[in-house]
Amino acid sequence: MMAILEVQGLKAYYGQIEALHGLDFHLEEGEITAMLGANGAGKTTSLRAICGMVRTQGKIVVEGESVVGKSTESIVSRHKIAHVPEGRGTFVRVSTEENLRLGAFTRRDREIEQDYERVYHYFPRLKERRNQQAGTLSGGEQQMLAIGRALMLRPKIMLLDEPSFGLAPIITEELFGILEKINKEENVSMLVVEQNANLALAISRRAYLLETGNIAMTGPADEIMNDEQVRKSYLGY
Ligand code: ATP
Repeated sequence: MMAILEVQGLKAYYGQIEALHGLDFHLEEGEITAMLGANGAGKTTSLRAICGMVRTQGKIVVEGESVVGKSTESIVSRHKIAHVPEGRGTFVRVSTEENLRLGAFTRRDREIEQDYERVYHYFPRLKERRNQQAGTLSGGEQQMLAIGRALMLRPKIMLLDEPSFGLAPIITEELFGILEKINKEENVSMLVVEQNANLALAISRRAYLLETGNIAMTGPADEIMNDEQVRKSYLGY
């Protein structure tokens, strides 16, 4: 497999504060990789760094091309990297379908009708709610909408920040099942940031464990899942 995203020596800064201290990680084409770690470990910052939303040093290469110094708009539209931020960022006052349309705003073509149907194939509930104001959707539906909106970009890479945030376990499980399906059917490579390590590991091939701005551990998801330290600290058994 080929790395679709390759990151080397990544540092990230908020003002004078260095939040990432030189990370090496990669994402292979077509795979789901988990990025785990406690609050403040640097997971969100890692995704923001890839999208050019925070000042960085180091290498970030997408399909062989450096994206360092590029605008977020060009990283998203040219390199087809969809970022699903924590807190979802749906436009609450417009309808579900209008939110989906806004997800395609960087695309030049106008063939978005069929893309609505693609999204509704994965999320039939969004179709039922297509004309409903997004702010009135349930938490789970809003997360589905955020992912659906990202799909409207026809992304090659999806960066998902805590998709389970604030959701009931059963909804999270359903959502992760859909992510797996999207990964397989659309061949989208996914980097999934999660505190819910169990579920994230269950759908991932590999995982990285972040601790205070450094990568503390990496390996196949099943090895990480069976690591005693990880089990004690992150899996709770
Ligand atoms: P969480 O799950 O809580 O979002 P995280 O692993 O995603 O945690 P980050 O949000 O990436 O962690 O934070 C990494 C470090 O950067 C933390 O020490 C945090 O305090 C700091 N940080 C994050 N955002 C800012 C900011 N806007 N200004 C200053 N420091 C920040």
